[in-house]
Amino acid sequence: MKITEFFERKKQTVSFEIFPPKLDTPIETILNKLGDFAQLKPDFISVTYGAGGSKKGRTVEIASKIKNEYGIESLAHFTCVGHSIEEIDDMINKLKNEKIDNILALRGDPPKDMPDFDFSKNVFSYASELIRHIRKRANFCIGAACYPEGHVDSPRIRQDIYYLKQKVNEGVDFLITQLFFDNRIFYDFMDKLLAAGITCPVLPGIMPIFRADQIKRIASMCGASMPAKLVLLLDKYGNTPDMQKAGIEYATNQLKDLLDNGVHGIHINTMNNVEATRTILQNLGLFPG
Ligand SMILES: Cc1cc2nc3c(=O)[nH]c(=O)nc-3n(C[C@H](O)[C@H](O)[C@H](O)COP(=O)(O)OP(=O)(O)OC[C@H]3O[C@@H](n4cnc5c(N)ncnc54)[C@H](O)[C@@H]3O)c2cc1C
Repeated sequence: MKITEFFERKKQTVSFEIFPPKLDTPIETILNKLGDFAQLKPDFISVTYGAGGSKKGRTVEIASKIKNEYGIESLAHFTCVGHSIEEIDDMINKLKNEKIDNILALRGDPPKDMPDFDFSKNVFSYASELIRHIRKRANFCIGAACYPEGHVDSPRIRQDIYYLKQKVNEGVDFLITQLFFDNRIFYDFMDKLLAAGITCPVLPGIMPIFRADQIKRIASMCGASMPAKLVLLLDKYGNTPDMQKAGIEYATNQLKDLLDNGVHGIHINTMNNVEATRTILQNLGLFPG
């Protein structure tokens, strides 16, 4: 089923993001958790794509199990960076064969050791070109990424939104945001999207904080700013077990405020942590306590 159908039927959706384990870690570490995630009854679960396609087989396998064994819709992330056109078409065919209806179409980041990577030498320089290609080949529901604080490579948010509009016009059905820690940034972004004529559903992506060092690293990589109250929490709890408790509370408050303000749905970056995800849903009254 296409994710767009949820938007038609439901006032607000609940979805999760999980990631495949590293290649030297057995895939069962995540497969064994799928049943527990499914019990939380999300509308769909998205599965990230390892940088450079290293874990592409795992993304398809996990997304397929979510859909075909647990009966939960899945959304397969796919980045085209570094892939030949044959590899891109092969991925499209694999997803079709597994009856996966939803794809998050991404350009991807430069390879780790090549910060000056030249995207013009790529088959597709931007996600918009990948989306145009997928639209011609298959009848997927297509999601794409957006950045409330602007993409890290973009000099100005206005320019980023200009290109986002081009991307949406290629046939994007919905958007998922980069993580953010201050809802005011998201609301301001939504006003900017409306002004630019971008009206498809936008799911805010929220990541609960479990360790201070981990979140500082992730936030600096993706350019997410931290409000003072969050910095104080990170300073207070650091990498202690209390950080997880405070992080769950912070994420709960963010999500509650988003739901109260009428978002199309919430997308929780679970970090593969079932317990924390369950607690957040219970706090929100979305799962029996
Ligand atoms: C919700 C979400 C999920 C993600 N999942 C993954 C994942 O699973 N695996 C992974 O490796 N990465 C993932 N990423 C990270 C993503 O791959 C990177 O942020 C990447 O650098 C950009 O991908 P994109 O699809 O947004 O690119 P694009 O939309 O192509 O944008 C990239 C940059 O190019 C600019 N741009 C776009 N079009 C043009 C144009 N025509 N001319 C000039 N400039 C242009 C944009 O402003 C932006 O700065 C995810 C990000 C988000 C927000």
